[in-house]
Amino acid sequence: MNCHANKSIECTVQQCAHHCQGENYCSLNRILVGTHEASPSMDQCTDCKSFRQK
Ligand code: SF4
Repeated sequence: MNCHANKSIECTVQQCAHHCQGENYCSLNRILVGTHEASPSMDQCTDCKSFRQK
């Protein structure tokens, strides 16, 4: 598969359908980042809302 890596969005989530497998980049032009916490305090509190399961 020819994946268009967006060099502005690094990502290591290889289980995502938008991930460029050989390189640690996202293939989307833009992503949406959100949170599942009421009061986020660390990086683990944030989520990529553009994630889609392969
Ligand atoms: S959509 Fe989000 S989780 Fe998926 S590859 Fe892009 S940045 Fe990573």
